[in-house]
Amino acid sequence: MYSLEGQVGLVTGASRGIGRAIAIDLATHGARLALHARSITPEFREFVLNLGGGTEGSRAFAADISDARAVAALFQEIQRWTPRLDFVVANAGVYAGSMSPEVTEAEWEAIWGTNLLGTFRTVQGALPLLAQSSNGSIVLVSSYLGSHAAPGGAAYQASKAGIEQVGRALALELAPRIRVNTVAPGFIRTDMNRDGHEDPAFRRHIEHATPLRRWGEPDDIAPVVRFLLSAEASWITGTTLLVDGGVSLE
Ligand code: NAD
Repeated sequence: MYSLEGQVGLVTGASRGIGRAIAIDLATHGARLALHARSITPEFREFVLNLGGGTEGSRAFAADISDARAVAALFQEIQRWTPRLDFVVANAGVYAGSMSPEVTEAEWEAIWGTNLLGTFRTVQGALPLLAQSSNGSIVLVSSYLGSHAAPGGAAYQASKAGIEQVGRALALELAPRIRVNTVAPGFIRTDMNRDGHEDPAFRRHIEHATPLRRWGEPDDIAPVVRFLLSAEASWITGTTLLVDGGVSLE
């Protein structure tokens, strides 16, 4: 079930957190991966070397996705490595939670440049390689905050709402050859929100606000992404799947 045997794909933001868990899960289930990070550190290089993934192994790539020229260079490099991509997981993203009276234009531009435009340009850059697949699939990573409001971080929330709508528009544009879906996580324990889950009061607050009574782990997201990429999801496109322990129900 949900095998990716023989498939070649790209995962962005794979150096840590949710992207790293997705990389491990997809490689374990047969995919050969182009693994992207903002820069290739020795740790990231070793992670990718040890990951395996298909018979020819996976490979590390670097680019700042908020930089159009860097993303263009990234896809030139990926194209030298593989003539086709069967899937793309656009996971790289950043968070900032300023309240609206204080937030700066620079913060808005940084959040949108990475989360919304950076995600879009990643997908756009991958389209020629996805077109070589008979079975293309894209998964975007939003947040439950893409459809549910919270005080602070309006720029982040708007960027994730934008990703969800980009996903629906692309699903229409790219059908029937390429499917496009979005995963919207709740609170996942990663470096992105380390301050939050290391603060006992906030940690308990989130546990209480989440009907399933715990923070999510990156491994709660990875198999869901694999399902959306797999043949078993071959009639699903344009959907946003909340994976949030029910927090959006409250
Ligand atoms: P993380 O900070 O641990 O990892 C983010 C990854 O994205 C890193 O590999 C980082 O290097 C990469 N990245 C960030 N900006 C980049 C840029 N400009 N260029 C290239 N790479 C860049 O965060 P995470 O929690 O693993 O988040 C992964 C995704 O999940 C993000 O899109 C985030 O918004 C989303 N998400 C996270 C949570 C959560 O609670 N952790 C909840 C909902 C959604």
